[in-house]
Amino acid sequence: MTQKKKPVKVFRCPSCGMLVQPTDEDFPFCSDRCRKIDLGKWASGVYKISSPVLDPEVLEDLGGLGTGRGGSDED
Ligand SMILES: [Zn+2]
Repeated sequence: MTQKKKPVKVFRCPSCGMLVQPTDEDFPFCSDRCRKIDLGKWASGVYKISSPVLDPEVLEDLGGLGTGRGGSDED
């Protein structure tokens, strides 16, 4: 009986594109080296996180909106 195997899901190393097994020690990377390459991208600023500069005055303005003066239904 020749039964065809179901297609196995394959994973590829994000760094070099090599096939990796989910059981691999360095999964999802093919090796520790590729893991470090990926980490290096973060360190070198490839994935730069842009932090918006908040103006203090803007913050004050936003804070004043929540106080709700002049809307006293109670009493
Ligand atoms: Zn790799």
